[in-house]
Amino acid sequence: MEKNTKQQNVYLSEEEKTLNWTEVQDSFKKNFGGEIYSSWLEKLTLEKEYNDYLILGVPTRFFRDWIVSRYLDKILAQIKSFKLSLNRIEFKIIEENKNTQDFTKVDEISKITEIKDSILNYNRLSPNLHFDNFMVGKSNDIAYSYSKKVCEHLSRYNPLYICGGVGLGKTHLLNAIGLKLQAENNVMFISAERFMYHFIKSIKKNDMVNFKDFFRKSSVFIIDDIQFIRGKESLQEEFFHTFNSLIEKGSQIIISADRSPMKLDRVQERIKSRLSGGLVVDIDAPDVELKIKIIKNKITEIQSQFKENINLSDEVINFISNESKTNIRELIGILNRVIAFSRVHNKELNIQDCKKILKDVFSQIRVITVDKIQNVVSNYFNIPLSEMLSQRRSRPLARPRQIAMYLAKKMTTRSLPEIGRRFANRDHTTVIHAVKTITRLSEQDDEMKKNINQVKSLLLEQ
Ligand code: ADP
Ligand code: MG
Repeated sequence: MEKNTKQQNVYLSEEEKTLNWTEVQDSFKKNFGGEIYSSWLEKLTLEKEYNDYLILGVPTRFFRDWIVSRYLDKILAQIKSFKLSLNRIEFKIIEENKNTQDFTKVDEISKITEIKDSILNYNRLSPNLHFDNFMVGKSNDIAYSYSKKVCEHLSRYNPLYICGGVGLGKTHLLNAIGLKLQAENNVMFISAERFMYHFIKSIKKNDMVNFKDFFRKSSVFIIDDIQFIRGKESLQEEFFHTFNSLIEKGSQIIISADRSPMKLDRVQERIKSRLSGGLVVDIDAPDVELKIKIIKNKITEIQSQFKENINLSDEVINFISNESKTNIRELIGILNRVIAFSRVHNKELNIQDCKKILKDVFSQIRVITVDKIQNVVSNYFNIPLSEMLSQRRSRPLARPRQIAMYLAKKMTTRSLPEIGRRFANRDHTTVIHAVKTITRLSEQDDEMKKNINQVKSLLLEQ
């Protein structure tokens, strides 16, 4: 257990915190401009800092929705330049007339409420991610239709396992299922990471009984990003038991992951076989047609939500759909930028404007360094960076190492010898060999191709 807590660093102590909020605010001002800054971003407060996510305080729900729909991607990218490990931001509504925040009051309430409260705080279903605003295309129609079927026939497909790369709509679907079922069922919706957080907290407090009770009493258990359990033995153990007892009492389980069950390396075989024992459906990258549909729907949504007219020509919409190559999250991020720009300049955009905005977006988020590549790759394959750079040659280390070298060659301007040096002083011929091997494999092997694309898309999100 000790090992896991250390590795994960779920909760940061004072010394481990890295963000200087004033500095971040300054960068907001510089990058968003004075107007947006003083109306919105200035009011954001830093409430809590974790290893890979933050909780920011906002004054109202409306404020939160506005920020999330317009600026979240850019805020994330901005803060990321100060904190590389960041991959998520959560918001907490700080009511002005309430000085004491419930964060500090946990000891006063019963333990079970505490788990419940924190789940409610962090894992509330988002009212905005439902089936009606999930656009369906070739890449996701199977996942979509089975997600709906699950809602009609509980326990028929059990578990339902939805897999696909980052930003392709897994969380959206899971959330939609949760919303649909929550009125008549005891729905639990949690990310594997939060599950681990509560697990560790309960162990530390010697409170496993409540933990088990709490998670096992749901009739619909939805767990997001299960790949997080890779390499974490005690978490897998607990998950396995939770899973079994839920299935035994007939609860429906829905799971998402960035890969199929059998490809979850460093996960116990018995868990993999449980995970694939129901129905596995996957989501692929969207085609242009679906991207256009998503943009159009998003525009309609924003218009009706904010009572605002948004004029984007079909030409501009097509352009954005063709330019955004990685995933739907990026697509929406770009759309928000374009809308913000047209709002600030109060005009309908043409392709030229869009090109300029996109150039900014891409040059801002796409500064890719060898360090970043090494970090993302070691994270992705769930191996310690030191091992990846070490001299050991076992396949589970050598392949990721070669992939990182390959990406360093393809995505940075570093020379082969420079790259070699960054990989624990290896020779440039080793780098050449890596580039050749991975190039060949990514042509022949779908799995390799998929891995490379996912790592790339993670890098481009940074
Ligand atoms: P994942 O969990 O797979 O990383 P998300 O579910 O978070 O991806 O999706 C990323 C963003 O794209 C979200 O804002 C989501 O609402 C949006 N999105 C994804 N797929 C669709 C879709 N088919 N229709 C509309 N929006 C989508
Ligand atoms: Mg997700």
